Amino acid sequence: APAYDLSQPLDIDFAGTFADATEDERAHQLKVRQFVQEEVLPVIADYWERYEVPMDLVKRLAELDLLRDGVDVPGLPHVTPYAAGLAAMEMSRGDGSVATICGVQGGLALQSITMLGSEEQIEKYAGPMARGEILGAFGLTEPTHGSDSVALETTAVAATRDGTPGYVINGEKKWIGFGSTGHITVVWARGEDGQVHGYIVPQDSPGYEATTIQGKVSLRAIHQAHIVMKDVFVPAENLLPQARTFKDAGRVLFQTRLGVAWSAVGHAVACYESAVAYSTQRVQFGRPLAASQMVQERLAQMLSTLTQIQLLVKQMTRLAESGELTGPQASIAKYSCTRGARQIAQTARDMLGGNGILLENRVARHFADIEALHTYEGTENMQALIIGREITGVSAFA
Ligand code: FAD
Repeated sequence: APAYDLSQPLDIDFAGTFADATEDERAHQLKVRQFVQEEVLPVIADYWERYEVPMDLVKRLAELDLLRDGVDVPGLPHVTPYAAGLAAMEMSRGDGSVATICGVQGGLALQSITMLGSEEQIEKYAGPMARGEILGAFGLTEPTHGSDSVALETTAVAATRDGTPGYVINGEKKWIGFGSTGHITVVWARGEDGQVHGYIVPQDSPGYEATTIQGKVSLRAIHQAHIVMKDVFVPAENLLPQARTFKDAGRVLFQTRLGVAWSAVGHAVACYESAVAYSTQRVQFGRPLAASQMVQERLAQMLSTLTQIQLLVKQMTRLAESGELTGPQASIAKYSCTRGARQIAQTARDMLGGNGILLENRVARHFADIEALHTYEGTENMQALIIGREITGVSAFA
């Protein structure tokens, strides 16, 4: 095969020139693609429009062992970061809500427990969460603290109830995926030592009230909750013993940041594919749109951006695998990939004309969904400030 074959648009699925996946990694990617093709794409636009979580697909994600998002779980095979990235890309190439479901359940909630929990907690939660029997949430953001979640106000105070030592939690959380429709929430709260700790809070605890946020125009097939906690008691065994400061919550987010970058690439691939297909089929002024120089230039620009972000996230993932990836490098990946994907989505949306705003054509959903990725797990601005601090040695935000 030629090294650079535009008829096979520059390896948009990493199958050719850029492929260095092992057989297992490629098999993992193709498993996700087949699932997306056969089970997600036929139904997802309707779920999106109905503002409904596809619980049947959540069950299937667990059966296919995709729900844990590549997080290591005792007794289940190791998934390499590269394979997990390829999976996130394929999932988002189909749908952002489905990819976010895995990101929340696996990357955020489950990973908080496997990374920061005790052996007993891992034993109790990891298997059931991988199997989808327990759905978990990650509650960091508050109504008044998003980018500055380091200043979170939720408190946890030691207390004893009915002879059981534990903690009483008070505070509010906003934007928490699965926070109203799951079983447990990893709540980040400030302890009496002034430090941020993590607590596993069952969602049926007295005092835990969660309402699903309504009216989102992005990621409509996953729900986020506004949670109010009034004197919620959890036993001492629900404290994550390795979560000693805010930095430990940051360690979980550091692990998931590349996943968001891979997801952005998946959205970009889908939008690029839609633009190519549409412009070669749609005829105006007696010839396909693709025959016009301006359209070709836009396609070239999209493919060029797509190639850059693909290579970037791939390289960053290899660095992560060898343990060399730094925080600012992960920020560069998230910053560049969501930014690039957003530009590609915007251009693709325009290239489909009026049809580009119809849900039945894939691009509108991706166009809307990429907005959430651009914001969550650290906005574009915040990633830039982290990178800027690294460049200059001066923090412009803290
Ligand atoms: P703000 O922090 O208020 O920011 C508003 C704007 O100001 C942004 O453009 C931001 O970049 C900019 N800004 C802020 N500070 C500065 C500064 N110093 N300099 C320059 N610009 C600045 N959180 C969870 O804990 N768990 C979840 O499961 C979860 N899921 C989410 C799902 C969705 C769909 C969304 C939208 C959010 C989710 N979040 C979740 C929250 C998410 O992480 C926050 O929305 C994000 O961190 C931004 O916080 P904010 O929305 O409060 O915006």
